[in-house]
Amino acid sequence: MSDMTTEKAAPTAQDILGRDKDPHLDEDNPFEAMMARFDYAAELLDLDPGMYRVLRHPEKQIIVAVPIQLDNGDIEVFTGYRVIHNTVRGPGKGGIRFDLRVTQDEVKALAAWMTWKCAVVNIPFGGAKGGVVCDPTALSVAELERITRRFTAALLDHIGPEADIPAPDVNTNERVMAWIMDTFSMHQRHPVTAVVTGKPVEMGGSLGRREATGRGCMIATREALKHLGLPLRGTKVAVQGFGNVGSIAAQLLEQEGLTIVAASDVSGAIYNPNGINVEDAIQWVRDNRYLQGYPHADSIPPEQIFGLDVDVLLPAAVENAITRKNAHEVQAKIICEGANGPTTAGADRILDEKGVFVIPDILANAGGVTVSYFEWVQDRMGYFWNEAMVNERMEQIMQQSFQDVVSVAERHSVNLRIASYMLAIDRVASVHRLRGLYA
Ligand code: NAD
Repeated sequence: MSDMTTEKAAPTAQDILGRDKDPHLDEDNPFEAMMARFDYAAELLDLDPGMYRVLRHPEKQIIVAVPIQLDNGDIEVFTGYRVIHNTVRGPGKGGIRFDLRVTQDEVKALAAWMTWKCAVVNIPFGGAKGGVVCDPTALSVAELERITRRFTAALLDHIGPEADIPAPDVNTNERVMAWIMDTFSMHQRHPVTAVVTGKPVEMGGSLGRREATGRGCMIATREALKHLGLPLRGTKVAVQGFGNVGSIAAQLLEQEGLTIVAASDVSGAIYNPNGINVEDAIQWVRDNRYLQGYPHADSIPPEQIFGLDVDVLLPAAVENAITRKNAHEVQAKIICEGANGPTTAGADRILDEKGVFVIPDILANAGGVTVSYFEWVQDRMGYFWNEAMVNERMEQIMQQSFQDVVSVAERHSVNLRIASYMLAIDRVASVHRLRGLYA
């Protein structure tokens, strides 16, 4: 029987979000941030200690040296990581990032997040993540290609359509996925499109994948407004991060009748209380790279974006954006986490006390992995869907997942973040119990 039926006294907000009780917990450490929520959800589920130990430990952690010849003839060695957190429900799924800040702890956290995210939206994948410690801005395209191919070669025994399926993440894109697919296929001696998702559409990518995460954020926000009995029309939104997720979510929310009053990117923040024309701002960024200087809005200090008088806040940029330091400034009724890990565990407590309705990352931004799942399905079938079908099927999954999480939240009197973890942990743990422990 599922642990979800376990009756417990309703916890207080302090119980739910007081996971910073460990004075050594590092608010900025993503693994600790993830574990703080995992531990509490596991406690509420009465997860038995053995299962807790299984789920806390990643299945596999790979560290590889990635030696390449630079364009100037020198040899440089980069470090690459791939962590497969759990594959009990299906093959590992998760992005690969190229960034100087990649650490094993971060990759471990992101891999576990993927396990929970795939389980929340109930798609048959486990969780994985990877990264190479490098500065892509200091490397040529040819050097990036060599890093990608050598990293892929080092992972040949671990990745594959039935084992672990990488995808784009920070500083990696369709082109990098094409190189991974090509390297893997050359070794297999036949094309293997389903080894990665986020590929160019011409070579097995899915229509609608590029917009999927932003679209999922729009659906989650719309469902939250409906759930809270709030109107769509005129609802004011501030978006942190105006890249793939933030700009597309903003555009689709505007189409639903909401008003985007503020947006920010790495160059700064813009504000117009009467609304920003999102298509116009996107065009400005296409032409000028950054939002800075956008003529139809005022420039404001970037940190002010969190304290604006808005109904919805959509952090879609980086981890640890909302912390203990700025959470008390939030005026929004809803936070839709487009980014992974934008809110620290310490900030959760403050937001909960303020009654902010937080749609957690593992639900809010799961539209992306859902359409990655569709891409993998289409590659394996060799039959491709039109964009309307992709969007319709994704919408069904997002709506269902939102309802599933709300039901758990109401049943256990917890917020949506803890409910998402409870739902995910319960789904993963049930399959572990069904499969049993091998040997
Ligand atoms: P992106 O690179 O397209 O855009 C990132 C945006 O954030 C850019 O506008 C950048 O200027 C801005 N930014 C960076 N640092 C900032 C800062 N300190 N303050 C304000 N803005 C800042 O990336 P993306 O694909 O939109 O991803 C954004 C977030 O969403 C990441 O956390 C990513 O992991 C997460 N995410 C993305 C997807 C996806 O499918 N793209 C899926 C799930 C989660």
